Amino acid sequence: MKSPDTDARFLHELLDRFRGERAGQAAGYTPEAPGTDQDSFAIALASVDGELVSAGDDRHPFTLQSISKPFIYGLALDRFGREAVHRKVNVEPTGEAFNSIIELEEDHLPYNPMINSGAIAMSALLHHADPRRSGAAIMEMFGRYLGRTAQLHPNTDLSLEGGHRNQAIAHLLRHFEVIGDDIDGALQLYGRQCTVALDVRELALMAATLANGGVHPRTGVRALERTHLRDVLTLMFTCGMYDSSGNWAYSVGLPAKSGVSGGILAVVPGRMGLAVYSPRLDAHGHSVRGVEVFKAWSAAWGLSMFEPAGGEAGT
Ligand code: GLN
Repeated sequence: MKSPDTDARFLHELLDRFRGERAGQAAGYTPEAPGTDQDSFAIALASVDGELVSAGDDRHPFTLQSISKPFIYGLALDRFGREAVHRKVNVEPTGEAFNSIIELEEDHLPYNPMINSGAIAMSALLHHADPRRSGAAIMEMFGRYLGRTAQLHPNTDLSLEGGHRNQAIAHLLRHFEVIGDDIDGALQLYGRQCTVALDVRELALMAATLANGGVHPRTGVRALERTHLRDVLTLMFTCGMYDSSGNWAYSVGLPAKSGVSGGILAVVPGRMGLAVYSPRLDAHGHSVRGVEVFKAWSAAWGLSMFEPAGGEAGT
């Protein structure tokens, strides 16, 4: 990896290059939305050695939203094992939006855990197994990735989380008996995972934990069993960017996940975690600048998983 000095300079270059991009609109419904400048912009890199460099609005708090999904999927795998988890969710990309309701396959299971239906199936699995402790259990899990106590954004109102569309998805899952009766409990848990607050530096450290075999690079605490890491990263690679996962794989080539808060994280296995925050979103619900930054970053450093060994980008 390049030295942190070089990295910091490069992160500032990326900020300068894409700061003029004003396309897209921030999601109005996240808890942080009232206090957020649509043009806030931050980039961070955390290495598997625990080095951290960042640039821009790197202390601005935002919520995980859908970035929580691979971590919750990982927790479900650790807790119940692969077989039990995949009795509730498949591993196929959809080519559909994150909140699509027409995504149940023939066996009536959600396509994958990176879209809302699959994520709600995971929340329900965790919640129904232990309704009293499920909220605390997911906060403890996020705490292990964050290296500190996890907290919800102060503006969070869990009774407002979910909305009618997620309720409809949950009822459909209930109809097909993928989830149990406590629909509100499952949706509240889903709302909780979406509203965990952090900044871009912590997002990079979460990605670096995945890059580091599931162990937080600074605290040394294991956040995910090593045996489940491959499943999480594979699903991020194939499904993490919803109906633009193919384009992302082609142009960035890294396992990643986005959220409607404007955060995107990506994992360079064995090397580092990368994160961008900028709240204006494209039609897929991804940060507009975030996608641009990652394309440029991957091209400049030859970060695609399929970059020929020993080759520098563009050579
Ligand atoms: N809380 C959001 C929702 O379920 C998360 C969606 C996202 O980040 N893509 O609608």
